[in-house]
Amino acid sequence: MSLLTVGSVAFDALETPFGKTDKIIGGAATYITLAASYFTKQNNLVAVVGGDFPQEMISLLEEHGVNTEGLEIVKEGKTFFWSGRYHEDMNTRDTLETQLNVMADFNPVIPVSYQGTEYLMLGNTVPATQKLVIERMAKRPKLIMLDTMNLWMNIAMDDLKEVLKLVDLLTINDEEARQLSGEYSLRKAAAKIMEMGPKTLIIKKGEHGALLFQGERIFFAPALPLEEVFDPTGAGDTFAGGLIGYLASTDDISFDNMKRAIIYGSAMASFCVEKFGTERLVNLSQEEIKSRVQEFVNLSSFEIQ
Ligand code: AMP
Repeated sequence: MSLLTVGSVAFDALETPFGKTDKIIGGAATYITLAASYFTKQNNLVAVVGGDFPQEMISLLEEHGVNTEGLEIVKEGKTFFWSGRYHEDMNTRDTLETQLNVMADFNPVIPVSYQGTEYLMLGNTVPATQKLVIERMAKRPKLIMLDTMNLWMNIAMDDLKEVLKLVDLLTINDEEARQLSGEYSLRKAAAKIMEMGPKTLIIKKGEHGALLFQGERIFFAPALPLEEVFDPTGAGDTFAGGLIGYLASTDDISFDNMKRAIIYGSAMASFCVEKFGTERLVNLSQEEIKSRVQEFVNLSSFEIQ
């Protein structure tokens, strides 16, 4: 089944305890589409970049089967820029700078060839843009998943709440779930957030795994304890891309299949953090993915008498 992803395509500058980068390629939709490319062949992108965005990176996405017909290039504009600094624990970070640039007033156009896409991934971007994309789909997709972050809760909470009413599945981290709901207990937070629209919610807890909520049902997926986490940037997006890519490829949105999807998402995220930026995501093999997923299975399966 086909997937449509909207979200930031960006320049990032990162600081971790291991080192610092100049501007490297990042962005939510970049990580999502790359991760999803290992699962779905129909991988459509809607995003905007400035004239400063390198053609080689667009070609790299295309080599991974990403359809870039919906990638708008504003020649005179500048690409979205984000910089962040990780704390010693590598699990938390501060945003140092966000320059929305061409993303601020992006008017998303859905190419005719994307209409009919069954799986829609609204990656991190302006909530009003996420809503416009839903409204511009001729037919409602089978599954609409949304990812967002604290910035939008701080500056566009009303727009975010409007788009939340329209989505099926929301992924956010624990801190954001607390901010969105005003509840400290993640269980109470989940109940409140599911009343805002999404019937299914995933709360990401970084190196402590992720929780899947649907009504009264809960499932927990661990994160793989890695010897070294080099750069966690994009882990959340890679997780989302692996997850929705798997759902689209199996075309099954049952709770049981979501459990499998969350493990695939976690496996993809575990690769992402092993190197800076998208480096690790661009040349994975199906064998590596398969054996990583098996590590997750081994990590948490046990028998009880
Ligand atoms: P993650 O580490 O999965 O939360 O995502 C990191 C990516 O999100 C980076 O590559 C950034 O370019 C992108 N990003 C950071 N802030 C925003 C924002 N406000 N809107 C859209 N994308 C963002």
